[in-house]
Amino acid sequence: MSIPLVNPQLLKPLTHGDAVETPPRPASPEHRFGTRAVHSGSHIDPNTGAVIAPISLSTTFAQSSVGKPIGIYEYTRSANPNRDHFEEAVAALEHARYALAFSSGSATTATILQSLAAGSHVVSVSDVYGGTHRYFTKVAAAHGVNVTFTPTLEIGNEAIIKPDTKLIWIESPTNPTLSLVDIREVTTIAHRHGILVVVDNTFMSPYIQNPLDYGADIVVHSVTKYINGHSDVLMGVAAFNSPELKDRLTFLQNAIGAVPSPFDCWLAHRGMKTLHLRAREANKNASAVAKVLESSSLVKSVNYPGLDSHPQRAIAQKQHRDGMGGGMLSFRIHGGHAAAERFCQNVRVFVLAESLGGIESLCEVPSSMTHAGIPKEQREAVGVFDDLIRLSCGIEDVDDLTADILQALEKSVAPANGA
Ligand SMILES: *Cc1c(COP(=O)(O)O)cnc(C)c1O
Repeated sequence: MSIPLVNPQLLKPLTHGDAVETPPRPASPEHRFGTRAVHSGSHIDPNTGAVIAPISLSTTFAQSSVGKPIGIYEYTRSANPNRDHFEEAVAALEHARYALAFSSGSATTATILQSLAAGSHVVSVSDVYGGTHRYFTKVAAAHGVNVTFTPTLEIGNEAIIKPDTKLIWIESPTNPTLSLVDIREVTTIAHRHGILVVVDNTFMSPYIQNPLDYGADIVVHSVTKYINGHSDVLMGVAAFNSPELKDRLTFLQNAIGAVPSPFDCWLAHRGMKTLHLRAREANKNASAVAKVLESSSLVKSVNYPGLDSHPQRAIAQKQHRDGMGGGMLSFRIHGGHAAAERFCQNVRVFVLAESLGGIESLCEVPSSMTHAGIPKEQREAVGVFDDLIRLSCGIEDVDDLTADILQALEKSVAPANGA
């Protein structure tokens, strides 16, 4: 007796133009975030009926006659099924028409900057991600692209715009002080001058904030953080609506070749299917940790956009889903740099490490780790003091995280006070 392995209707081979022959998955805007996260870009495999797509490791794809590929693929740097699936899913979650994946968040930044003509001017928030700052100052300058850094409050100020300004680069929240930028305010001014606005949305993830809805032209992510969410893939992505940007950035994606592997695309797509669950837990945990820190006499100040004490709380309420603060926060500990270092050694659940957005909670001291490359005066001007600790809250049980913070504070501050 033979058991049919697949629905014969699904057995049509892929040919040019009808790659999506299988039943369409719920991805349209009428479906909510969780439904889109689970189904977008997840096509039933037309050859086997597999619900989860196979990993297409093949670097090349056969042609039936010269210049006529059997399917829609030719060579994996140009396009690969797993990359297509992932890009389609990111576009659905960021309310974009298109998304392009890269081998890292940094490669995404580099490719966008490469799309600017020599002589272009860029305006960026000052406390931008360290690697982005490095690219802007050490690499882009060599290609004749110059960047002016300015504090978040002034980013929407028309006076910083020059005749050759082509791009404004925003991070909201900023890292590690969690300052917010009113994206709508910036895009309104930028568009009057024909300037593109890029928002690095890594810290919020598409679950909490969708910058394109506020007029941004390109949203970028280090997929390495919340989108993959399991601290085991390095990848980046850019999403946007303009067909001209799609042509230009697709050309550069292929020409520069900083593309992710099919396996990483598959892993990141799997990770993204639970983004809404992870982001909600991380947000809940960070809110509880922020409150515990704020009410402790051992803490000087707390930066968390979910707290009413945050100076830009109104922006969070307007721009973030349900006014959420996200999973990231930072705080200044009493006892100076030594106490900050002791805190990171005394935590038992939090892991002392760089990076963020994973299932596990992490802590670090920016002045000695992620932001050590920035001169002290420049660091302190944006609030990155030696006693600042940054936390990335994971999805562990909330009571274990708050208890861990409290015991580490007691052990780290008290000895210094007694001395
Ligand atoms: C990590 C990070 C990047 C760089 O991404 P990589 O994947 O490490 O290259 C860019 N922006 C922000 C906000 C980040 O946290």
